[in-house]
Amino acid sequence: MPEESTDLQKRSDASDITRREVLITLGVLGGAVTAGAAGWGVLEGIVALRQTVQSWHKSVCRFCGTGCGVLIGMKDDHIVDVRGDELAHNKGVICVKGSMLPELVRIPGRLTSPKIRKNGNLVDASWDEAMALVASKFSEAIRDYGPDSVAFYGSGQLFTEESYTANKLFKAGIRTNNVDGNPRLCMASAASGYVQTYGKDEPPGCYADADYASCFFIFGANPYECHPPIFERIRQRQRLHPETVIICVDPRRTMTARHSDIHLPVLPGTDLLLLNSMANVICEEGLENREFIEKHVRFSDGEKDCDFAKFREFLKAYVPEKVERELGISADDIRRVAFLFARSQATMSLWTMGVNQRSQGTFLNNMLNGLHLITGQIGRPGATPFSLTGQPNACGGVRDTGALAHALPNGRLVANPEHRAEMEKLWNVPAGTISPRIGFDAVNLFRAIEQGSVKAALIMCTNPGTTLPSVSRYQAAMEKCFTVVADVVEDSETQRHSQVVLPAALWIEKEGVTGQGERRYQLTEKLLDPPGQARSDLQILVDLADRLGHGDLIAARTPQAVWDEWRNVSVGSFYNFQGITYPRLQKERGLQWPCPSPDHPGTARRFVEGEDPFVTKGAGIEFYGNHDKKGVVYLRRYVPSPEKTSAEYPMYLTTGRILEQFHTGTLTGRIKELQDAAGPAKIQINPQDAFGLGIQEKDPIEVKSKYGTIRGEARLTDVSRRGVVFASFYDSKLLINRAVADNYDSISKEPEFKVTAVSVRKVSA
Ligand code: SF4
Repeated sequence: MPEESTDLQKRSDASDITRREVLITLGVLGGAVTAGAAGWGVLEGIVALRQTVQSWHKSVCRFCGTGCGVLIGMKDDHIVDVRGDELAHNKGVICVKGSMLPELVRIPGRLTSPKIRKNGNLVDASWDEAMALVASKFSEAIRDYGPDSVAFYGSGQLFTEESYTANKLFKAGIRTNNVDGNPRLCMASAASGYVQTYGKDEPPGCYADADYASCFFIFGANPYECHPPIFERIRQRQRLHPETVIICVDPRRTMTARHSDIHLPVLPGTDLLLLNSMANVICEEGLENREFIEKHVRFSDGEKDCDFAKFREFLKAYVPEKVERELGISADDIRRVAFLFARSQATMSLWTMGVNQRSQGTFLNNMLNGLHLITGQIGRPGATPFSLTGQPNACGGVRDTGALAHALPNGRLVANPEHRAEMEKLWNVPAGTISPRIGFDAVNLFRAIEQGSVKAALIMCTNPGTTLPSVSRYQAAMEKCFTVVADVVEDSETQRHSQVVLPAALWIEKEGVTGQGERRYQLTEKLLDPPGQARSDLQILVDLADRLGHGDLIAARTPQAVWDEWRNVSVGSFYNFQGITYPRLQKERGLQWPCPSPDHPGTARRFVEGEDPFVTKGAGIEFYGNHDKKGVVYLRRYVPSPEKTSAEYPMYLTTGRILEQFHTGTLTGRIKELQDAAGPAKIQINPQDAFGLGIQEKDPIEVKSKYGTIRGEARLTDVSRRGVVFASFYDSKLLINRAVADNYDSISKEPEFKVTAVSVRKVSA
């Protein structure tokens, strides 16, 4: 057993650390399948039960945005084993969720037949009966109230071919831009941050940058639990180069924080103060990279361009001593981190929902990118800003295809007449077909449903009945609409409020491409038939298109045909991935765009000469998405969250994910071993806060905000700093989102899941 593990075991026996946390440490790092068998008692039986493999098949994990390459072991048309693919970008490392993929296809409660609500109950129906009803309700709404009375709400878990087809059907067929999805809830702020900074969405760097960085700035992310192979790569870098520094900014002392060299537990909602203060230190101490700034950077106050002197002046309000109190960390720590960030040979920032799910999420993203630009920590191996992503295909499937209310494919915008005209030409529809009206983003879609202006909605591969903030409000709203849900398992919160439920194929029961967090497209090939009457989401969309009279528009009807159409749409844009063909994806371990020709190797680092085909020869680095080819650093004023603590609501609630569960647990919650390991979601509270409130371990407690109230079991832990309670959203029994604030970022429209003012009290059982 590693020394660290022994140490943790002792601490567990004695104190505040749970057996689960010990097991996480033992089991996840170095690959869950091998290390997991030693550390996770729950897995031992499973691994033993797995049978001799007849053939191994290259595939991709179903779950998170790390997009791990896996090998699927098959025997007699059954999946019997899985292991990390050593030739893939994750170098064979997978986490415990990936190691449970064979169990995923055997989960109980699969939907095998369409269902229609009759007399209040969902009852089995034929495909024809269900789809005829769906088509008639959509047609009626469009006829009586216009195309904007219907909507599509998709997912970063659909295949790209499915999101692309839905987007085309609704925007070019039905003629509404009411197309949005769950990526709005998790990465919209990262996307708007990239677009504002570089003129184009998606990270410039790649996971391999972790092999070169000497400073990791992990900000509002917990990759130890949520992206384990990436954190393992970071730790491997530190093992080989002990001078490597890992900094973690998080209100909670997460497993990532515990394994970092510096942990800055900022108070929830205040961290734009930290970024601006770091920028102040950098500019006042002469740590900026003047040469890089002169060549590659433009400054903007958000309305007009300005210069470095104005930026420096703006930052004077953020001198460390002025902000330390509100931020909850010392001026010395701010200075130390600013020096490390600027002076390291190569700094890699990694962030996720702690940054994105915020009322100033776009501004935070601006400043994270801005710190890299003013220090020149970008465009070299190891030096990069990098937003991690939560879902397997939010990047490739939703952001790249433009399956969002304001977007069109390949970075085009609904509001731009030239972009609409380009897409009308590419989709071969008459000029003026695409509506100039931006559709409803996620929260406003459900508000429109609440108000009755959206009459029918198709929801695919996601569970907004659990994931939306202030979710009780939007569950009630769903009852007012003809809501159709395509899903793989029965009885989600969303289905309870829907009129039609359609059984969908899962993961390797269909074929398609996913694009993970580093612009890498990977193919998942079909290895199994779906159960019962379940169909792929693509088949459902094609059927709907035919019934709505748009069959000619949706002429590509197989995953490969859709992919080929989509490849051709990308030509002429800075996404160009015409060279990423199905035959190449069948052989190779994914390819990163841009990749304009069949012999192009793909682009690991964007905007860098010699790697990115769009950079002008001799330019070195070129942010070609902007008219002057410069990256933009914004002057972004900190504004406190609308959620302020008060005498009535004196604490903060923040939410997130845990290692063993993915999103709302509709899949992982049905894998017994993962559910046994995670158990029901608890409400984490700092022991000192608990003492003051008379709360003991396992006591039933109530968390109340002005949006809603939840009750659950107290878990006393110093993972939460004083004044902060935490719960994960995987457990629909706890349904933490009932209490989460209904605010969102005004630019990205991403809700602020991370900051809600609450009161906490002990209640009777
Ligand atoms: Fe990799 Fe994410 Fe799957 Fe874990 S859940 S194996 S980190 S893709």
